[in-house]
Parts: sequence; structure tokens; C-alpha cells
Amino acid sequence: MQTLVITLGPQDSWEDEKMRSKIKIAAEVLRKGGLVAFPTETVYGLGANALDSKAVKKIFEVKVRPADNPLIVHIASKAEVYKLASEVPKEAEELMDAFWPGPLTLILKKSEIVPSTTTGGLDTVAIRMPAHKIALTLIEESKVPVAAPSANLSGKPSPTSGEHVIRDLYGKIDVIIDAGETQIGLESTVLDLTVDPPTILRPGGITPEDLERLLGEVQVHPAVEGRKVKTIVKSPGMKYRHYAPNADVIVVEGNTEKVNEKIRELITKYKREGKKIGVMVTDMRQRYGADVTKIIGNDFETIARNLFKTLREFDEEDVDIIIAEGIESVGLGLAIMNRLKRASYKIIKA
Ligand code: AMP
Ligand code: MG
Repeated sequence: MQTLVITLGPQDSWEDEKMRSKIKIAAEVLRKGGLVAFPTETVYGLGANALDSKAVKKIFEVKVRPADNPLIVHIASKAEVYKLASEVPKEAEELMDAFWPGPLTLILKKSEIVPSTTTGGLDTVAIRMPAHKIALTLIEESKVPVAAPSANLSGKPSPTSGEHVIRDLYGKIDVIIDAGETQIGLESTVLDLTVDPPTILRPGGITPEDLERLLGEVQVHPAVEGRKVKTIVKSPGMKYRHYAPNADVIVVEGNTEKVNEKIRELITKYKREGKKIGVMVTDMRQRYGADVTKIIGNDFETIARNLFKTLREFDEEDVDIIIAEGIESVGLGLAIMNRLKRASYKIIKA
């Protein structure tokens, strides 16, 4: 398939009719049932008309995504929620007012117009309004709600730049809008409002603390912290391995000194086995003598922005093993550790 790549400048300098006309081309493709990858403030999304079951099916095919893993429906106006959901509780309205546009996805009971292909067979629908001018303009111009999972091949690290999308999906979809790097770098928080108390199914840019301030009690689903759950999996996305680079990721958690010691031990062990080792650190003073060392940042915002990109960079250097220092699971750290653990094949408590 021929893929049209539309390159746009940084989102704050795009106020120009030429830009809008380029986005209109992509919007027309969406309207006609095609697939368009586009930037949001979290990661790049792979969009299709959420109400067109045939178009949505193509997303699953291209990504090789299991059919029971539902998609988030992206909208550009709050009024759309009342068409997509059969019930909109008061808390949903408060959350929309407080956090939209932004990285918060709400799970509500679905209305009849939403095809089950979009919701992975569930009777609920995930809805979000992204805080990104290009995404909002695209949705507005397409005049349809846009179902969009992350624009990567299923299981791989999510794409945080147009380049990542091109690498994964060029030749497989109709249009890629490339607007450089995304701001947040981690996917949205997914909050289930069909249960009491509201439950975080996936941590993200809006933290549990942010939600608690508005809602009072909020539960974090046990699967979020990587604990094994016997109960029915609420959000089917939780049961699949995700975000994983080709190399095996090992996360080492614990107090700094013990983590340092454990990482050194692991490096010695794997070097003896002839493996090429990468280490992902938060502080550049920390030298472990691995084959490749990458600094991911030492505040949560920077780490979030760099995480997926850094995992992909290790693959480019063909490392066999990536050893990552764990961070504290509070605030945005919860989302970072959730992605890191889901990407890893081993978690070690030092
Ligand atoms: P992605 O689009 O790759 O960011 O994945 C979307 C995430 O939202 C996955 O973790 C899905 O399981 C979750 N999700 C989407 N729709 C629903 C829903 N109706 N109920 C629960 N989780 C959902
Ligand atoms: Mg994804």
C-alpha cells in the first residue's frame, strides 16, 4: 500500500491555513474508511472511523492486535460523549471538565451506535479528548469519532515520534501525520466509571492523586502494579505482553545501594555468557560498565517522555539484555513502572 506522509511543524506554530488543508486530506481518508496515524500529547495513535466496523477491523489487522483488546474512541467535542455512551454519570462530567482535553480515558456504558468491533465485544466504551491541536483538528474535520490505539505493531514499545510510526507502519496504512516527538510519552490514564469506586485500569498522565482530589476514593486495579489477578480481567489490554523491545528487559527494584550492587552482579553474569548488555539509568554519574548506557532522565516527566524511545534505541544497537533501574511507584512513577514491568521479562527485588 502507498502511504502518504504528511509532515507538520511543532504544534504551537501551526496556525496556518496550509496546515489545516493538509489535515483535511487525512480527515477525508478517515471519513472514507481509511487508516491515519496521528500525534497526540501522549503517544501517536492509529485512527479509523470508530463507527465503521470494517475500518476498525483494519486497525486490528495492521497492528496484529487481538480482537478482544478494545480501542479508545477519540473525540473533539464533549457533546460526542452523549452519543457514544448510554449513561453519563455526574462524575464523568466533572472529570471531563477538569481534565479534558487531556490524558484521561473514561470507560462508560456504550450506546448502540458503537460497534462491538471497536469495544472488543464489551458493552462499555473508552472515550478520550486529546490535548493536541493536530489530533483535535483531524477529528473535527473528519466529523466522526476516531478509534485509535497506539500506532505501533502490537506488543512493541508505543511510538512517541513520527519516525517510530514510519518504522512500524509505513506501507501498511494510508496516511502518517509526522509532527515530531510527543510531549508526555506515555499513554492516557484509563478510568473505569462503570464500577464503584472508580477504578484505574491503566495508569498514565493523570495520576491517582489527581483523580482522588476530585472523586474521593479511587481504586487502582491490582494488575496495574503487576500483581497476579485471578478475577476476570477487566481491561483485556492488561493481559497481553506490551511495550517490549526485542531485547529482554530486566527491572531491578529496591533501595539505591542494593540496586547498584545487583545490577553490577547481573552485568558480570551476562558478560560471562557473551551477551551484549544495555543499562538504562536515571543518573549519569552511575557507571556500570555495560556495553551501552543510556540516561533516561532523573525526573518523572523526562523519564516518561524518554521511556519508549530509549527502549527502541537499545534495539537499534542490538543489545541482548536491557537492565533498568526501577523508580518509585508514586505519581507519574506508577505509570512509568507499569510500562516498564509490562515490557520486562523479569522483575528483580534487590
Ligand atoms: P491502546 O489503545 O494501545 O492505548 O490500548 C487501549 C487501552 O484501553 C487498552 O489497555 C484497553 O484494554 C483499554 N480499553 C479500551 N476500551 C476499554 C473498555 N471498554 N473497557 C476497559 N478497558 C478498555
Ligand atoms: Mg498500545
